[in-house]
Amino acid sequence: MKQGVFIERDGVLNEVRVERQQPVSPLTLQDFHVNLEAVPLLKKLKAAGLLLIATTNQPGLSRGYQARRELDRMHELLRATFGLDDILVCPHDAADHCTCRPPKPGLLVEAGFKWRLNLDQCFMISDKGQDAEAARTAGVTSLLLQSPWNGKSRSDLVLTDLAAAVDKLLRLRVSKPLLAA
Ligand SMILES: [Zn+2]
Repeated sequence: MKQGVFIERDGVLNEVRVERQQPVSPLTLQDFHVNLEAVPLLKKLKAAGLLLIATTNQPGLSRGYQARRELDRMHELLRATFGLDDILVCPHDAADHCTCRPPKPGLLVEAGFKWRLNLDQCFMISDKGQDAEAARTAGVTSLLLQSPWNGKSRSDLVLTDLAAAVDKLLRLRVSKPLLAA
């Protein structure tokens, strides 16, 4: 069994605009600004043998205002920049009642099957409370980055920034070693 870390795309791997106190996803490659400070931090996780899996909810796909081709271009850039092993997308809106839109844990469960992950040994890094909730439901240890979108969820751990979360994760991993398969 492998160990992986799920990393929310918007707000962690790329910048978001804020409108009416809500984070707004970029819709074009031109507006897509990668968070380059995260590059050496993700390298540390990769060097520790963890699979890097980005997750994102892009309801613009089902609503029709996000072009799939443009999303693919943004995600090619993300893979190349961070050496991601996978990017999992929930294309749905709340009205679609899917099983993969956080706080539902579908994306994490899907990744567990696809990559043969022991979810109890995996981690989630996000700045949004609904991702922490999805992680908890899936048995994944959540590291929540302080943000206005933390919500009321009782996350496992709240960290000031990505650097602190990566350090914490690597220490937790040592204290909770993967059992021999
Ligand atoms: Zn979905």
